[in-house]
Amino acid sequence: MISYPDYLQLLPKTELHCHFASTMSAQLFVELARKHGVTLPTEDPDVLFDFTDLRDFLVAFRYAHDVLRDPEDFERVAYEGVRSAVADGNLRYREYAVNPQYFFSRGLTYRQVIDPIVAGLRAAEADFGVGFGIVAAINRRESADSAIAMVEQVIAHAVPEVVAIGQDDLTPEDTEDPTRFAAAYELAARHGLKRTAHVAETPFATPDAVREALEVLGCERLDHGYRIVDDPAVVALARERDVVFTVTPVSTTICSRWTLDEGHRIRSMIDAGLRVAVSTDDAMFFRTDLGREYREGLAAMGVDAATAKQIALNGIDGAFCDEAQKARLRADFRAQFLALDALLA
Ligand SMILES: [Zn+2]
Repeated sequence: MISYPDYLQLLPKTELHCHFASTMSAQLFVELARKHGVTLPTEDPDVLFDFTDLRDFLVAFRYAHDVLRDPEDFERVAYEGVRSAVADGNLRYREYAVNPQYFFSRGLTYRQVIDPIVAGLRAAEADFGVGFGIVAAINRRESADSAIAMVEQVIAHAVPEVVAIGQDDLTPEDTEDPTRFAAAYELAARHGLKRTAHVAETPFATPDAVREALEVLGCERLDHGYRIVDDPAVVALARERDVVFTVTPVSTTICSRWTLDEGHRIRSMIDAGLRVAVSTDDAMFFRTDLGREYREGLAAMGVDAATAKQIALNGIDGAFCDEAQKARLRADFRAQFLALDALLA
């Protein structure tokens, strides 16, 4: 027999919203910083990741990209990140937001970033059976033209593993402003790339950001979206389009200061009939992992086993892989659910 928290941790999972640099372990981050002579404010992970708000976090997020320079750095982060997530949370499939713009400014080309990541993830897929896709993330701190130039690179190189565009960081005004990048999204759509966006997350964002991401950017999936519950009309729109929201319960507590309980916005999204899939977003920085997001996050919000299983399946429905891969994942998940249900005390 197993406890309910153990059951949640052992459920098979996908992860659709994690930023590549954030899948590093703190130990590897410090090791790579030493290798490249990057001075960190401290090498003590307990202090290094002591954020008080989103801006603080974003400063650390930016310099984490500084330690990724050689092909073997990218490959190692890719491979070891899968190995940890399988051990910590029974990961079966993952999509990574990779922001090429950070690396362009450090002199690397698109292929110098993407190829070693794909190599590391392919090696991990061979060893752990975890499939993957890559979401090229627009750096919202850069201009709309820079976003278009990045999407042009994605299209020109056509790496089959890069299946979508998304976002990271915030605009220089610390806003979300989805429509600023409308032209980049339109270009991506014309070339068959899927689309997701970070919206309705920050304190000054409104549910309108969800509407704009759906209606202007044409997103098939959305990241965060917590403020949607403030507007029933936008909830209705997202339900009608069957949008999957990638939500990050434990990861988001530090910046949002929301208590993880039955009144949490993610629980309200579930109760409103919205489809959520759970992710870590920035595991290293927020000292979380995929197992913990389910084990602590879902349990604290009072999510029952049937709903937790549906959340795991939402992570397949919302994935940007093909239908054959989704069917294989569903069969694998259902078999594991049966075995775990039999063990649940
Ligand atoms: Zn994110």
